[in-house]
Amino acid sequence: MTPAAYVHLDLDAVRHNLAQVKRYAPNNKVMAVIKANAYGHGITRVAKALEQADGLAVARVDEGVRLRKAGFSQPITVLQGFVCVDELLLMLQHQLDAVVHTPQQISLLQQQSAADAGLSIWLKMDTGMNRLGFKGADFNAAYQQLLDCPLLKQPINLITHFANADDLLDDKTRRQIDRFNEVVSGYPGQRSIANSAGILGWPGIVSDWARPGLMLYGCSPFAGKTGADFGLRPVMSLHSRLIAVKNVAAGETVGYSGTWQCPTDTRLGVISIGYGDGYHRHTRAGAPVLVNGRRVPLIGRVSMDMITVDLNSQPAAQPGDPVTLWGDGLPVEEIARHADTIPYTLLCGITQRVQIVEHA
Ligand SMILES: *Cc1c(COP(=O)(O)O)cnc(C)c1O
Repeated sequence: MTPAAYVHLDLDAVRHNLAQVKRYAPNNKVMAVIKANAYGHGITRVAKALEQADGLAVARVDEGVRLRKAGFSQPITVLQGFVCVDELLLMLQHQLDAVVHTPQQISLLQQQSAADAGLSIWLKMDTGMNRLGFKGADFNAAYQQLLDCPLLKQPINLITHFANADDLLDDKTRRQIDRFNEVVSGYPGQRSIANSAGILGWPGIVSDWARPGLMLYGCSPFAGKTGADFGLRPVMSLHSRLIAVKNVAAGETVGYSGTWQCPTDTRLGVISIGYGDGYHRHTRAGAPVLVNGRRVPLIGRVSMDMITVDLNSQPAAQPGDPVTLWGDGLPVEEIARHADTIPYTLLCGITQRVQIVEHA
């Protein structure tokens, strides 16, 4: 029996997408970003599929510890670093590389004795994102302070993050790159700049480590494009099945609040998927759904456990017929557009009750 609602994960696609990263950034090592449970795909299974990556990156210390406890031994960067001494000690214990971005972190590093020595860090420059990092002269001052810190492995590595690299017409990205290069040019450490949008959209960035996330999962960070445009293959496909088919007369409304009124007599399909599974509640009527591999439009509101579709184009469809919500044959980027969101949120949003079917 097929599960009611399930995600199919094509782990071979992860390996393929990693190879594509290496084609787009041939002179870079790859720090594969697997934060947020590998964008909803499962952190340890994706880490296993990424054994060819030079390193891994997560957002938080607990994600890094989890990877170490699962036996992963490659470099792991924690993109938010530590926020207290306990986290710093955990990072030392598990040999996790820290991003350092606040004066408080520097104080914590200075307070540790050299007996614990051996932490690798990435010093973060804020080049215009205005989220994490040191700006301008503060960056140089932080660098100087860290040079004298016996806890640290030298050289100190250098990192920044783009704010708007998915907009190819915004020259802010160019300014961020120039600003970073200008400041770090005299420093010996390794450099890391580009996320997926930087890798795909801004070729020629000079750095040592690329930091792809989204593209490893087969998606495009650019509005109006899909992963296939860049030779990427979707990893996640979300599936369910029809559970009811019925006729609804023209003029009747469908679903909560009656937001959809049937313009004609309608063959209505009910599918067992909803926001309780991670199918976004704000997905609008008209969003494509694959029933028996063919597109039909969503109609009415998304409920917790069900959605409704117009099956007038498929009069023979029956309960039990297979449905794809996104993934294979239906780019999640396209569904994100119909839900006024980005593919990141849809991938991250799959809930516990959805069964996972892996394909190595
Ligand atoms: C999440 C993240 C990435 C990966 O971004 P994608 O757009 O998914 O490629 C890279 N660097 C940092 C600092 C991040 O937080």
